[in-house]
Amino acid sequence: MRKWVTGARPLLALGFVAVVAWLALRGLPDGLAKGRLHVWFLDVGQGDAVLIQTPDGKQILVDGGPSPSALASELGAVMAFWDRSLDLVVLTHPDTDHSAGLIPLFDRYRVAGALDAVSTGDAAAAAWIGATEGISRTTAARGAQIKAGRVLLTVLNPASAPETAETGNNDSLVLRVDYGATSLLLTGDAETEAEDSMMAAGLPLRADVVKVGHHGSHASSSREFLAAVQPQLAIISVGAENRFGHPAPELLARLEGVEVLRTDQRGRIELISDGMRWVAR
Ligand SMILES: [Zn+2]
Repeated sequence: MRKWVTGARPLLALGFVAVVAWLALRGLPDGLAKGRLHVWFLDVGQGDAVLIQTPDGKQILVDGGPSPSALASELGAVMAFWDRSLDLVVLTHPDTDHSAGLIPLFDRYRVAGALDAVSTGDAAAAAWIGATEGISRTTAARGAQIKAGRVLLTVLNPASAPETAETGNNDSLVLRVDYGATSLLLTGDAETEAEDSMMAAGLPLRADVVKVGHHGSHASSSREFLAAVQPQLAIISVGAENRFGHPAPELLARLEGVEVLRTDQRGRIELISDGMRWVAR
């Protein structure tokens, strides 16, 4: 078990006005969740799937990895066996290593809401849009905020709602997660173009933990972006021996001095915050 302490953090700097959703209080927090934010980087192979459980017991799934069966197995391992509901499912972008696992999820779980940044003209997004039919779905852009109990989610990217063009890596929905003095960035597959846009906009990027963009691709996590984030811990969600060569040696070199945890080496990674510091296990 590793521990690292965070300093006091200034309140989110602002200009953020839109509140897209207030998640209603539902259910009772289980014993595990009380007073703690849990974040699981699920072991889904070459892809991303992140489950957030707030201290108030709200559950938010960000992406679903490439495989419905791998996602079901991982969710079964971390959620109570009777728990078949999720408060919010977020799709960062429609690439299948993020979306394919999610499509059948809506038949097995009661999902209260969905959040994305997809274009309706995007062929890859059609399966997601179909799967979320009948669920309250919000397409968000920079500035949107979601209050989930004591946890605040802020959308940092894309800069504006996608239109008809296909959704690319740089249109990834990037989420900032704040709980007390602790913070986390979930960057989807954002590459340097999106990172430059977030820096140019002067967004609050500094965060204790970053899930690096695009599985550790060399085209993500520029030196400048990492300098803006100043992470103490970097998570790389990546499949073992993947055909893309992720994570790139150049990216690992840029992370020198930052603690790195990789799903291909550790399997599922759990982070826990009490609002003052993170603990990984
Ligand atoms: Zn990806």
